[in-house]
Amino acid sequence: MSGACHECGATLPEGGTCRDLFHALLLLESQMRGGPGETSHFLAVSGYVLQHPEGMNYTAEALAGSRRCVADRLAGIVTMEQIRNDVRRAVDGSKRVTRRSGDPIIRWQVSAWPMNVAHVLAGGAEGYASRVEAWARSIVLALDQAGADAARR
Ligand SMILES: [Zn+2]
Repeated sequence: MSGACHECGATLPEGGTCRDLFHALLLLESQMRGGPGETSHFLAVSGYVLQHPEGMNYTAEALAGSRRCVADRLAGIVTMEQIRNDVRRAVDGSKRVTRRSGDPIIRWQVSAWPMNVAHVLAGGAEGYASRVEAWARSIVLALDQAGADAARR
């Protein structure tokens, strides 16, 4: 029986999970001649993470950082090199990006995402970069409209 992902709303493949869709997306990227480009790959991975705060197991702080990086990259404020340096600093040393048991699970107050991984995947390699960008923009917008803070429970 197929259903929808409870986090992003994607229609799930028969007998599959949303993570399967994410892996299919990464596979699609790996098959692109010359690769998807650094920004597209960054937006795709970050987009998936931001839509799956529970499944991807990130801390509130890591999610907030990811959201900020995506918004800044889309706005053209930061380069990929700056993001790489930021991420390197953020995960340096003992800082964790994934939750431990007892850490709150973050749930955004977003009732429905306009786009999800299945939409990006459905278009294939053709127009991938612009679709990923549209996806990332829709996520930033939905999070902005939902308010700055995630609900914790
Ligand atoms: Zn999902």
